[in-house]
Amino acid sequence: MDDITFTIARGETLAIVGESGCGKSTLGRAILRFTDVTSGTVWLDGHRISDMRGRFLRRLRRQMQVVHQDPSASLSPRMTVRDILAEPLRNFGVAGARADIDRRVAELLTWVGLPPEVANRYPHEFSGGQRQRIAIARALAPEPDLLICDEAVSALDVSSKAQIINLLADLQQRLGLAMLFISHDLAVVEHIADRVAVMYLGRIVEIADRRSLFSAPSHPYTQALLSAVLDPHPSSTRRRISLAGDVPSPIDPPAGCHFHTRCPYAFDRCRIETPTLDPRSPTQSAACHLGQVPSVQ
Ligand code: SF4
Repeated sequence: MDDITFTIARGETLAIVGESGCGKSTLGRAILRFTDVTSGTVWLDGHRISDMRGRFLRRLRRQMQVVHQDPSASLSPRMTVRDILAEPLRNFGVAGARADIDRRVAELLTWVGLPPEVANRYPHEFSGGQRQRIAIARALAPEPDLLICDEAVSALDVSSKAQIINLLADLQQRLGLAMLFISHDLAVVEHIADRVAVMYLGRIVEIADRRSLFSAPSHPYTQALLSAVLDPHPSSTRRRISLAGDVPSPIDPPAGCHFHTRCPYAFDRCRIETPTLDPRSPTQSAACHLGQVPSVQ
């Protein structure tokens, strides 16, 4: 990742989109402090968290939680749902006495739309969508300020996917969470995000509020990504943009604009000079040497 700057407000969902290998999961891991950043700073609620260590880092873990793609891999098959939810409650000092834990487990299950009676069951007794609800309840147990969803609905069938997206949106509004929603699925992102950042080979190439990004994408890469999503309107005249070539290696990205090897508008300057992320409107910024990219609509 290189030169990444953005903020997320309380109660806001920022989606990070891009093809696999673009760095979006690494970004999530760096914020969560699972990966150290080599330069730059991450702030949470006024605290500089990118170089915290020891007990400060441990305290910080309570404020940031993650929901992974595969709940089957992230939930221990040997633990009951009650034990899975009790563990963070106890570890982070949210509840200690048995009665307190039982009350909180029942509350968390209700929040995610599961009856409290399922607390004594094991993960394998649930469907994929229900397991993801349990994983969300576990992430909410320490009462975090920031929730990172890393492809949290990608492994689910269509109906579970819709239910979990609605659940996340509902919980986020109710609890006032800041949410970083990492996904390659633009249809899902259009449904849940307030703002969207598009990544290509470790850089943010466009960041905009949802409406601007989906109605008038500014960067050629965003235009190409959106053109690949089926338009539900039969009368649509939207043109599909096929990108030439493969995604270059993120270990050795092209000089200048990383996208120049595949961009239909590339010119000499693009091969030499890295474009900066500049405002195109009050709600939209893009990193492209072309001030105005032709519309694809
Ligand atoms: Fe294309 Fe050049 Fe813009 Fe990069 S800077 S997106 S190569 S036109």
